[in-house]
Amino acid sequence: MTEFETTRARFHLPEGVVYLDGNSLGPLPRGAEAAAARVLREEWGQDLIRAWNTRGWMNLPARLGERIGRLIGAAPGSVTVGDTLSIKVFQALAAALALNPDRRVILSDTGNFPSDLYMAEGLIGLKGGGLELRTPAPEAVKDALSDEVAVLMLTEVDYRTGRLHDMARLTRRAHALGIVTVWDLAHSAGALPVDLEGTRADFAVGCTYKYLNGGPGAPAFIYVRPDLADRARPALAGWLGHRAPFAFETAYAPAEGIARMRVGTPAVIAMAVLDAALDAFEGVSMAEVRTRSVALSERFIAEVEARCPDLALASPREPSGRGSQVSFRHAQGYAVMQALIERGVIGDFRAPDLMRFGFAPLYNSEADVVEAARVLERVMREGLWREAAARPQAAVT
Ligand SMILES: *Cc1c(COP(=O)(O)O)cnc(C)c1O
Repeated sequence: MTEFETTRARFHLPEGVVYLDGNSLGPLPRGAEAAAARVLREEWGQDLIRAWNTRGWMNLPARLGERIGRLIGAAPGSVTVGDTLSIKVFQALAAALALNPDRRVILSDTGNFPSDLYMAEGLIGLKGGGLELRTPAPEAVKDALSDEVAVLMLTEVDYRTGRLHDMARLTRRAHALGIVTVWDLAHSAGALPVDLEGTRADFAVGCTYKYLNGGPGAPAFIYVRPDLADRARPALAGWLGHRAPFAFETAYAPAEGIARMRVGTPAVIAMAVLDAALDAFEGVSMAEVRTRSVALSERFIAEVEARCPDLALASPREPSGRGSQVSFRHAQGYAVMQALIERGVIGDFRAPDLMRFGFAPLYNSEADVVEAARVLERVMREGLWREAAARPQAAVT
């Protein structure tokens, strides 16, 4: 694989900062500024509306889908990009439900991200009731699968604890019971190897501003297994998912394959930035990323446990049971995290008591991990969090 120094040089990382929050917002890739400037000045500025044709703007969702698809084990032509993840969850879930019209249950879990669950609730409301959302504990999902369930909708990696579902096993078991699966890869894409083809997942979605470093609000992606794509009905049927958008027909007719999951006009500037961000994965194998990520998180856990007896590990101890983040609990977790951030170690906090630390081997080193643990030890030993505890909590934690 490409050397660590080479991949780290692909990012702009501010001096004096240890960045362990790429699971929430990846850092600025080196090429992103130039890519945005090029689109603004040369493409939009010079070509104006002609750029939809001359600069390939219309094809960006498919082209980026192709690039992301390689990182998540998707067959060519099975991924498209656009909208935000919440929207893509809604689309995937609606299409999945339509494939199983005689069943009434959506099965998810309490570890899922709230927006995914809200989307399910909203969809149930739109369908006039009759559907039920079940959210057992993550460990109980396996036993909650039954022939009542229409769709199993899970996020592979828990945003709070980093707990990793066994996607291959759960998908296999779901299929044996006639259940359609929707996997959210928000904390998986770019963080660990995903094998969509191998697991035969039906639908998958994810965002691109976490481990894929596409920038704040970068567009999401959606995958539909190729043999289902022509049967999947996109509930949000937009003109750019029509089979002939520029025929401007009154009636909707879906495009062939994954293109039907497009909705409206692509966010060209954001997509140009994402395109540049994906360059950081060139020559990088996800298996190698995983090996390094496990080494970093294992080292971090060992350092923190040796130095900070008051912190309790909230993530699975077994590395095979985690994604690429580690969380520790502390009753004053918010204040501790603020004290860390003020000292140049950036992670984040999730209520009520979780401090999250994400590891992105493309730019995080062993030295980062040791430095973070060292600063954390000082904050705990010297009670440096007390000052932050007296201040009101910010809107984004
Ligand atoms: C980050 C995340 C989201 C966020 O959705 P947006 O629409 O992009 O704000 C949704 N679901 C999961 C599982 C996430 O991790």
